[in-house]
Amino acid sequence: MAGKHIVILGPPGSGKGTQAVRIAEELDLRHLSTGDILRDAVAGKTPLGRQAEDYMKQGALVPDDVVLGLINEELEVIGNGGWILDGFPRTLVQAEALSEMLEARSHRIDHVLLIDVDPEVIVERLTSRLVCPNCNAVYNLDSIKTAVPGACDVCGTELVKRPDDEEETVRQRLRVYEEQTSPLVVFYEGKGGLIRINGASGIEEITAEILRVLK
Ligand code: AMP
Repeated sequence: MAGKHIVILGPPGSGKGTQAVRIAEELDLRHLSTGDILRDAVAGKTPLGRQAEDYMKQGALVPDDVVLGLINEELEVIGNGGWILDGFPRTLVQAEALSEMLEARSHRIDHVLLIDVDPEVIVERLTSRLVCPNCNAVYNLDSIKTAVPGACDVCGTELVKRPDDEEETVRQRLRVYEEQTSPLVVFYEGKGGLIRINGASGIEEITAEILRVLK
């Protein structure tokens, strides 16, 4: 049987990446984060990375055709397995293209989750976020501390601040979310299924709530 297909939406810093990893593990899904794939490409200086780097640095979206190409390849590799999409789709063009890609494979989205958080909480969260450049684990100077300060709990690599987590870029990313991504809420509501999750509570509580509503 084909696995579940889930889209997780929410502004940058809503915790959707953290939740996507946890839900993927619980439900045995492939976690597909376009942000992680693009950051790895930038770090590896691949042609994709060179195309994406300047947009990412400025907190702008990478062009739709670039992101659609990479998602199409990933979906091809996954085949009939289940997945959770994190950070994609981010524009109406991407959402419509995703519907077409799925239709062509006789697949469908089973659930769309929206993690809701106040923008000011987000600015605070993102400007104190640290990430592992090796395994993409996410930490926070205030709320998600590591056993050894500055080192990843999973792989021991030295943590870094994402260049796009500087305050000005965070505010730019929030504007981009409002303008280009928030219309997807109406798009998926119109398709009949969008589940709102309160992203203000703790990580464990949010995961439990998501698993509860997915049942
Ligand atoms: P994220 O890790 O999801 O916050 O993504 C980091 C950056 O990668 C974004 O600010 C964009 O520049 C780029 N990016 C990630 N996903 C997409 C997407 N679906 N469409 C366009 N750009 C994206």
